[in-house]
Amino acid sequence: MADNPAPVQADSPEAVRYNRIRRWLGIADVGVAFVFLLVLLVTGWSGSLRDLAYRMGFGGYSLSLFMYLLLLLVISKALSAGLDYYGFQLEREYRLSTQRFRSWLWDEIKSFLVGLVMGSIVVELLYFTIRHMPEYWWILAWLLFMALFVAMAQLAPVVLFPIFYKFEPLENEDLRRRLVVLSQRAGTRVRGVYRWRLSEKSKKANAALTGLGATRRIILADTLLDNYTPEEIEAVLAHELGHQVHRHILKSILVQAAITFVGFWAANWTLHYAIDRQLFEFVQISDFANLPLIALVSVVLSFLLMPLLNAYSRFNERQADRYVFESIASVEPFISSMNKLAEQNLAERAPSRWVEWIFLSHPSISRRLAAAEAWNRTQAEHPQV
Ligand SMILES: [Zn+2]
Repeated sequence: MADNPAPVQADSPEAVRYNRIRRWLGIADVGVAFVFLLVLLVTGWSGSLRDLAYRMGFGGYSLSLFMYLLLLLVISKALSAGLDYYGFQLEREYRLSTQRFRSWLWDEIKSFLVGLVMGSIVVELLYFTIRHMPEYWWILAWLLFMALFVAMAQLAPVVLFPIFYKFEPLENEDLRRRLVVLSQRAGTRVRGVYRWRLSEKSKKANAALTGLGATRRIILADTLLDNYTPEEIEAVLAHELGHQVHRHILKSILVQAAITFVGFWAANWTLHYAIDRQLFEFVQISDFANLPLIALVSVVLSFLLMPLLNAYSRFNERQADRYVFESIASVEPFISSMNKLAEQNLAERAPSRWVEWIFLSHPSISRRLAAAEAWNRTQAEHPQV
């Protein structure tokens, strides 16, 4: 440990408390969904809802399926509304949000509608494959889902994000020039850099590489652009560029494809198991009263895979950070931007090991800083000209 002179700044009780509450909110959210789906199946209420949906849908399959989904989403929204409101209040309580209640409510309504539209496409496709290929529906569904997933990744920056935030092309000439130099050095082309008007809703800062193909772009929150030095923003840009150089979006889609394949196989197996043993009210695979069971498989699988996926994400983040060290003149702006981000976002710099392992998609700030310091030391020992 003598080799590590970087002092780790202790987390304020405020930061610890805020992050702990956020984690518990996340767990409670999954818990509510899990219990809701289980209750629907065990009590047979899913069957009652299906009968009601058939009355609302005038007996037609597709319309009734839509009605069933609508009922499910309305009930689950009602169940989680309290937690959602608490989450909104939490951000305000810790002075991290600038959003007013009406704006938040409007966002909630919009995200419900977006969820309804996307959910409808998903379930209609799902039961279309089940009805037309009862044996191998899960393989066809998997292919269709991946196509949908790729289309969504491509459309998200131009269709989905603008529903909630405003974006405009970055106009800062100095930054543009720095980015061009950085990306040329990386041997890659940046399709666009956008200013993301996050300040209308939050005080937190953020940046991301989003989109696919022609819509691939780096988005930088105005809360970051307005408060960080050009060198610090360059470090943030270099990190996002690192994701691009290492093709992280494409790789994540491939990982997603593998997981979704296993997920569909597991859903098919579980459906047949439940039908064979007559565990629940549905006796046919095409009976959409079994939707909660498919959803349950997906909830359980994503919960179990969370540590694995987060580990993969942390690996990618470390790779992107290493790219920053290699591509900018000094790691100092990276270090100061990390410190600013931690403060601004009330992040835990040094969460416990298991918290990091299970919940965090990024390495903790203290680890990222330690990596930068270590890089600095190796450079001092073996300077490269
Ligand atoms: Zn990143």
